[in-house]
Amino acid sequence: MRVHELAKELGLTSKELMDRLHAQGVAVKNQLAALTPEQIEKARGPKGAAPAKPAPAKPTAPPPPAVAAPPPPPPPPPSPAPPAPKVLVVKTPLIVKEFAEQLGLKPNQLIAELMTMNVFASINERLEFKTAQALAARHGAVVEHEKKAPEPKVAKPVEPKVKVEPERPEDIVARPPVVTFLGHVDHGKTSLLDRIRRSEVVKTEDGGITQHIGAYTVSYRDQKITFLDTPGHAAFTAMRARGANLTDIAVLVVAADDGVMPQTREAIQHARAANVNIMVAINKVDLKTAVVDRVKRQLQNEGLVPEDWGGDVICCPVSAITGEGIDHLLDMILLQAEMLELKASARRAAKGYIIEARLEAGMGPTANLLVKEGTLHVGEAIVCGPCWGRVKALINDQGIKVRTAGPSMPVKCLGLNSVPEPGTEFEIFADDREARALAEERQAARRLQEIAQPRRASLDDLLKQAPATEKKALSIVLKTDVQGSLEAVRQSLLGIESDKVSLKVILAGVGNITENDVLLASASRAIVVGFHVSKESGVNALAKREGVEIRLYSVIYQLLDEVRDAMTGLLEPVLKEQVLGHAEVRQVFEIGKKGKVAGCFVTDGRITSRGRARLQRQGDVLFEGAISSLRRFQNDASEVREGMECGIRLDHFSDFQNADIIECYEAQKIKQQL
Ligand code: GDP
Repeated sequence: MRVHELAKELGLTSKELMDRLHAQGVAVKNQLAALTPEQIEKARGPKGAAPAKPAPAKPTAPPPPAVAAPPPPPPPPPSPAPPAPKVLVVKTPLIVKEFAEQLGLKPNQLIAELMTMNVFASINERLEFKTAQALAARHGAVVEHEKKAPEPKVAKPVEPKVKVEPERPEDIVARPPVVTFLGHVDHGKTSLLDRIRRSEVVKTEDGGITQHIGAYTVSYRDQKITFLDTPGHAAFTAMRARGANLTDIAVLVVAADDGVMPQTREAIQHARAANVNIMVAINKVDLKTAVVDRVKRQLQNEGLVPEDWGGDVICCPVSAITGEGIDHLLDMILLQAEMLELKASARRAAKGYIIEARLEAGMGPTANLLVKEGTLHVGEAIVCGPCWGRVKALINDQGIKVRTAGPSMPVKCLGLNSVPEPGTEFEIFADDREARALAEERQAARRLQEIAQPRRASLDDLLKQAPATEKKALSIVLKTDVQGSLEAVRQSLLGIESDKVSLKVILAGVGNITENDVLLASASRAIVVGFHVSKESGVNALAKREGVEIRLYSVIYQLLDEVRDAMTGLLEPVLKEQVLGHAEVRQVFEIGKKGKVAGCFVTDGRITSRGRARLQRQGDVLFEGAISSLRRFQNDASEVREGMECGIRLDHFSDFQNADIIECYEAQKIKQQL
């Protein structure tokens, strides 16, 4: 019997049961772990003890024996409270070093332990929540997400008018998981989406005609699951590149007759880069040529160890054609969702993302959107990017008009004044005027931005973003001509050692540079490095639009040198001061309205007009700043040397006195070494 099965029997969630087991010293890895009869016994508690939540009790069942309970009427005694497991409240992103501290381990102990779980992470790397859960379980603890503080009430200065309502804990409800299918072409993503839609949607709803609105929701075992309609990692990453991380669970579709293929690997890397949960659907098991175990072995080679092989990746053999295994897949999605404890407030003003949008005859601009939190109502003032409007109508995936859409629900929204871009976030405003004002402000800003520089991944930009104290990271999307060179280049890249900058290869693949690569780089703030490859058509334009840097090489040493340079470029230069010379004030002149000029004599070195100055009087520094003019006789001078006289004007300082010393210096930027 597995954890989730026993949990169901006891009327608990899998997580509650796992907590109970951990508290009893039973280490279970995940909700799919098989339990021994003793463990089951233990979890059930002393014979006849009541489960924590009363299961639909048979009328004939004897009342649970009350442990030292008062005489009748016997209130059902609370189940003996298990010693609570240690709860570690964690923040995301979860960093190896910090988590080690929380567990009371040395970082390298934790890293070693991670290795036994096939996770190779360095001290400053992020940990997946799932991995942290598994680790904590080994140490008899459970991890919980830090309760997100309600959205900051102090709104941003420019955009202060979003309808914010106080969040009440009782309004937080479980929300359906949002699932995306990823995988190699022709492995059956679309077929699976269609199969699930046909079998679950049509079966449960009546009257509606299936509408393609970018996503659909199925009801299964009285719970809901939302599937994003555009399968494949291109769409997935394109959304992410715009900031929309909608997916909770990525289902990797692998055809059982074909196995792991290049795009499967790519999909894995995209999903990992996005830090989403990965499950696997091994499809086409109806075919005679299907070999499920081979697929599992290949997955293991990619670091996705199937749970029945001791890992934690759920693999579901399915067939989109016969429908075999689909129920199991849906069950596993629900189970995974339960473990993720997806929650949202249904009462607050809606927020979410545009999945697709277009101009439709007779309807005007329509936007298919997915509500992330809160509830969207007809009549509300909505803003998405530079578009705004009043929600005229909402149409669900069944083609039925609805008045509201809650968390994780996809709907088609009518009433916008123009067509927003997919991936744009939408927000609700208290009134039309505010919505309109913000949208117009953004339109203006966008026009400005079009003239200005691209927004991502230039090294300068990266520099600005990373706080100085953090270890910097350079992310690379690597493409090479053949598998052999791929490994060679990757290993050499990873061999570049530095304490200050870490290097991450987020995707390593064979083939020319595609638009997908650029999107991934954009979403992950990475640069694209190509070795003996070229760019596919359209790549240049996209890279320019997204501001992604692409570098092509045919000599490996040059590639390594430049990557090293790029890493060095991430380090802020150290400012070093170099004193150029000194001048003494001999006489003060008042010339025109511009304030005073110090007539000086250069006592040593030189004074330059571009240098900076420090005015000292008897050892005190009275001024530090720029030299606003340097003159020799009546002429501007760029430099005046020792032994000569000159006139110096300082920026916003004119209180000169004879015998003041003006020190001229230069701030030199010195590159740091890796
Ligand atoms: P996608 O490119 O991943 O979206 O793949 P499709 O869903 O378009 O499927 C590609 C081909 O595989 C189609 O011809 C499907 O009919 C076929 N196919 C999909 N699922 C199955 C399956 O479970 N069994 C078999 N035998 N064929 C399938």
